[in-house]
Amino acid sequence: MKPALAAVPAGSEQPFYLAAEKIYPREIRGRFTRLRKLAVLILLGLYYGVAWLQWDGHQALLFDLPARKFHIFALTLWPQDFLYLALLLILAALSLFFFTALAGRLWCGYACPQTVWTELFTWIEQWTEGTRSKRMKLDRGPWTLEKLTRKTLKQVLWVALAAYTGFTFVGYFTPIRTLSGELFSLSLGFWSAFWICLYSLATYGNAGFLREQVCKYMCPYARFQSAMFDRNTLIISYDEARGEPRGPRRRGTAARSQGLGDCIDCTLCVQVCPTGIDIRKGLQYECIACGACIDACDDVMDKMGAPPGLIRYTTEEALHGQRTHIVRPRMLVYAGLLLAISTLFVYSLATRTPLILDVIRDRNALYREIHGDVIENAYSLRVINLDRRPHAYRLTVRGLDRLQIAEPIGPIVVAGGTVATVPARLQAPAATAAGGVHPITAVLTSTDDPRISVHETARFIGPRS
Ligand code: SF4
Ligand code: SF4
Repeated sequence: MKPALAAVPAGSEQPFYLAAEKIYPREIRGRFTRLRKLAVLILLGLYYGVAWLQWDGHQALLFDLPARKFHIFALTLWPQDFLYLALLLILAALSLFFFTALAGRLWCGYACPQTVWTELFTWIEQWTEGTRSKRMKLDRGPWTLEKLTRKTLKQVLWVALAAYTGFTFVGYFTPIRTLSGELFSLSLGFWSAFWICLYSLATYGNAGFLREQVCKYMCPYARFQSAMFDRNTLIISYDEARGEPRGPRRRGTAARSQGLGDCIDCTLCVQVCPTGIDIRKGLQYECIACGACIDACDDVMDKMGAPPGLIRYTTEEALHGQRTHIVRPRMLVYAGLLLAISTLFVYSLATRTPLILDVIRDRNALYREIHGDVIENAYSLRVINLDRRPHAYRLTVRGLDRLQIAEPIGPIVVAGGTVATVPARLQAPAATAAGGVHPITAVLTSTDDPRISVHETARFIGPRS
């Protein structure tokens, strides 16, 4: 049967979209709040601090896009090292799957940039405008000098923080010390200024205004994370069997004797929720698993003389009196893949040779005859020193009898992190070079570190008969 359409009085207009209601999260103390604060401090400390770290004369973490080099502490990745980047991205995705299947939205609650910066902006808001009730009263009240002062101070601090966040972000792509010098001497380039403004605006908008709207409507992860959940995944849940029927009662009175559950319907769990949901309605995709409602409810239970855990980390199986299985097929698959790809990543990184050799044949001539009995082939050697230190390399060739190097005679010196193009000439007696194309191998070895050695196959061409 088709549902009947609700009658709309003639002349009245219904808005197509519901206006977002401003959320005023109540301040709360507790173990999960402490944990989140700790995570925020560590992550922000790393974000703002690592940009200034130096390593071996370079910025420790710098994604130098114009030079197409990523400096990651002792490691410099080139476009040729795309494999490592791909492996890192796969590892990050698998870790997200693994931890989500194990413990729900840990990422959202403690480590997501949206959570971290929103938390920081909320601290500033609480510091400048006061507690939840004061903030609500301030917003409802008329514009007074106090309101103007508090709001202005908040905006100044927000803008300063957003600007510094945008500046730091760009500092991971342009050396931050150079960037700060340019900023203070007012000689910032157009693109640097543009990206700083853009990221500052994004931080200000997302953490200051959009907040939970980002999690609810913009974040794709919120939409598909439930696909990684099962009945054994750790979720934050309200214990309905214990809490219902909810209702107010006096402190110290037994709930059951009054036909009530443990929930006193104080709504504190809703007031502290940064996304404004009521966890008592069940698992909702808006829940970012921050644990604030657990802290709030545990506090209430403590005051009421009831055991904590009416809202707690649990699993659907546990809520239905079943045993929770941590080890299950999907966990084993994720863990196995994580282990295999981590091993591959570490192994390939440990055995990486910081040198690339390309042997490019001279296209102008197949070969040259010298004195009638020597055949010469010309090449271009492209030597990429992926190491940060300069190296001298010695070239050797093999694969054809009495094949000799006419050029280069001495070692090839290449500065750290640069590419050198060197002409090369190889010669072989006409008798051995006869017969057309001969596969040969060029070997390039560092004179100061023989472990740095690469080889490349090439062709040596002689007369057909
Ligand atoms: S904080 Fe606890 S007691 Fe209060 S409404 Fe929420 S679930 Fe009920
Ligand atoms: S329901 Fe609880 S855990 Fe989920 S977002 Fe709200 S306060 Fe955080």
